[in-house]
Amino acid sequence: MNRYFTYTRSIVTGGAGFLGSHLIDYLMSHGHDVVCVDNLLTGSKNNIRHLYQHNRVSFEFVRHDVTQPLDIQADEIYNLACPASPPQYQHNAIYTMKTSVLGALNVLELARATNARILQASTSEVYGDPALHPQPESYWGNVNPIGVRSCYDEGKRAAETLFMDFRRQYNMNTKLVRIFNTYGPRMNVNDGRVISNFIVQALKGENITIYGDGSQTRSFCFVSDLVEAIYRTMNTEAEFGDPINIGNPGEFTMLELADKILTKIGGTSKLEFRPLPQDDPKQRQPDISLADSKLGWAPKVSLEDGLTETIAYFREALES
Ligand code: NAD
Ligand code: UDP
Repeated sequence: MNRYFTYTRSIVTGGAGFLGSHLIDYLMSHGHDVVCVDNLLTGSKNNIRHLYQHNRVSFEFVRHDVTQPLDIQADEIYNLACPASPPQYQHNAIYTMKTSVLGALNVLELARATNARILQASTSEVYGDPALHPQPESYWGNVNPIGVRSCYDEGKRAAETLFMDFRRQYNMNTKLVRIFNTYGPRMNVNDGRVISNFIVQALKGENITIYGDGSQTRSFCFVSDLVEAIYRTMNTEAEFGDPINIGNPGEFTMLELADKILTKIGGTSKLEFRPLPQDDPKQRQPDISLADSKLGWAPKVSLEDGLTETIAYFREALES
């Protein structure tokens, strides 16, 4: 059989979202049949419409909320269902926590029942406002358990606990990726995260909203690099289940990011300073030496190139 057409059946929860839909593109182009499970909370059918046109592999969409048990047969499960943008996950904080914790429990029970391998989309937010910089996987983090970001941070931490306990208790093949800020085409125009906000504001000639003094840092990974790393993680040896950081170590302040975007787009936008949200991490940069040694992976796309592609996408999205 052609090694690119293995006919593995994969479930992607959150598959109608930004990252999930790119992951499905990748899986289908590598010969996987895919079932996308999504309740369309923050995702959109526009992200997956094109997938029905594949002629060699099949695509199914199941509208389902992962806080409820599911019963679908598959060889592997990628659990991405969860809002990821701070305004979106804080909108209904209790539901975000339920999605992370009950969602993880339900997909793990499904994997256990069907003997599927399973990967969890965890996050750099498990490190909170990190006191150690850059962040290696061995760092336990600095998370406020009762703040406005806790529903997401602690939800994802609890999901990691469940993944490790299912692995230990039932000897399951579980995987954990800690994803650092990722961006690219198919982000929602109203997503609320920094890259989409700045690009949309610059394209509309509106003020660029800098929270705080803009000295806080983030490290931005382009979506194609991220998807490649997720795929490699799922396919590491079953014995390996520890968390792996996935991100681009290039670190920028929000002022530097605004400057880069304004230089690329031009226009008349000015900077508008707004209060820093509660518990906003001051710095973030992945230590990716484990991804290098375990997956032979490092990001390839520079922020310059990734922004060019993302700006082109938003330009078209705003015109249509
Ligand atoms: P997104 O909001 O675009 O996608 C999330 C998807 O999950 C959406 O399609 C949404 O409708 C779906 N969803 C939400 N709650 C659900 C529920 N209860 N049941 C079923 N579906 C549900 O966000 P994204 O950026 O694509 O993030 C995908 C995953 O990656 C999330 O788990 C997120 O925590 C994780 N992650 C993303 C980043 C990033 O920078 N993009 C960083 C760290 C972690
Ligand atoms: N941010 C900003 N202006 C915006 C949106 C976000 O200055 O319009 C800042 C935000 O305070 C944070 C950084 O950009 O310091 C990244 O925010 P984002 O919501 O993208 O992700 P996260 O905070 O979860 O890393």
